[in-house]
Amino acid sequence: FQDKGEAVIATLSQDGRTETVSAAYLAGCDGARSAVRHGLNIGFPGGTYEQSFYVADVKGSGEITPNGMDTTISSYGFAIVMPVRQSGSVRLIGIVPKAHEADETITFEAVRADVERDTGVKVHEVNWFSTYRVHHRVAERFRAGRVFLCGDAGHIHSPAGGQGMNTGMGDAVNLAWKLAAVVQGRADARLLDSYEPERIAFAHKLIESTDKVFRFVTSRSRLVGISRRYLMPKIMNVALHTSFGSRAFFGVISQAAIEYRAGPISAGTAGKVSGGDRLPYVVGARGDNFEPLRSLDWQVHVYGEV
Ligand SMILES: Cc1cc2nc3c(=O)[nH]c(=O)nc-3n(C[C@H](O)[C@H](O)[C@H](O)COP(=O)(O)OP(=O)(O)OC[C@H]3O[C@@H](n4cnc5c(N)ncnc54)[C@H](O)[C@@H]3O)c2cc1C
Repeated sequence: FQDKGEAVIATLSQDGRTETVSAAYLAGCDGARSAVRHGLNIGFPGGTYEQSFYVADVKGSGEITPNGMDTTISSYGFAIVMPVRQSGSVRLIGIVPKAHEADETITFEAVRADVERDTGVKVHEVNWFSTYRVHHRVAERFRAGRVFLCGDAGHIHSPAGGQGMNTGMGDAVNLAWKLAAVVQGRADARLLDSYEPERIAFAHKLIESTDKVFRFVTSRSRLVGISRRYLMPKIMNVALHTSFGSRAFFGVISQAAIEYRAGPISAGTAGKVSGGDRLPYVVGARGDNFEPLRSLDWQVHVYGEV
């Protein structure tokens, strides 16, 4: 692709057919190895964790919660057990033991004993087994001229907290309404300048927090292992049973706590609400104030007493 200033010319190839298109803008939603990011020469600084992870779809018996997800945090590390749709299989995710970390031809049998100990599942049949490394990186920029980066093309991090896809969708929504407004002539093109500062700031924050959680749950330090095993469950149990703790946790995991106060299109305050905040949820006599947001159009909301 080439950014010609007034349009982007891109060549698309599929099944031996090639097509050249001219578009006002290009969004690279092409994953961690993004050809668009490479094409723009945008760096992807960060690193790769030393641990390697396994994922296995198995049939087994033991500590399996039907239709639920179990996370085991032990002094060895952590493991997750969850059902694979309606297939009757369960998916096991965990850390590959250090002795097998560098083994590129690793099979399930090599780690069976560790997996069964960590997950509490006795495995009878292995349908799929794979290992992978986890990276933590944020692209230097999310935009160059008429070209944008969204999703894993712009940021990758540990799966701790399950935030990757959600963040990519957040990027896409943030960019989509702005592009639509600009392309339809309802907003100045400067509106697009707010995409990168809003989303890259959140990506950095996310990488920092998932990195802390990841290092804690995967650390091989004995002291951290003990606190993970004995201290953390108690702290989490107390924290999540307080209204403040559960609200804060929900805000982070659901990403409802994201705010763009420092962004270039946020200004002003009204009571406790600042420009760039998520609209507080209010239920009134005629329904709630989130219902009108389905229209995805500009709206003026007025609150108060008459
Ligand atoms: C083990 C694991 C667990 C995870 N769990 C969660 C979770 O619980 N919750 C969560 O939110 N996220 C989770 N994630 C992260 C999530 O999977 C990713 O963040 C998400 O899939 C990224 O979406 P994306 O569309 O940006 O990129 P991708 O999913 O990588 O999609 C990019 C697409 O672009 C296509 N493409 C690439 N190059 C080109 C090209 N040149 N031309 C045309 N097409 C191209 C690719 O084929 C692909 O289809 C997890 C990830 C892992 C590894």
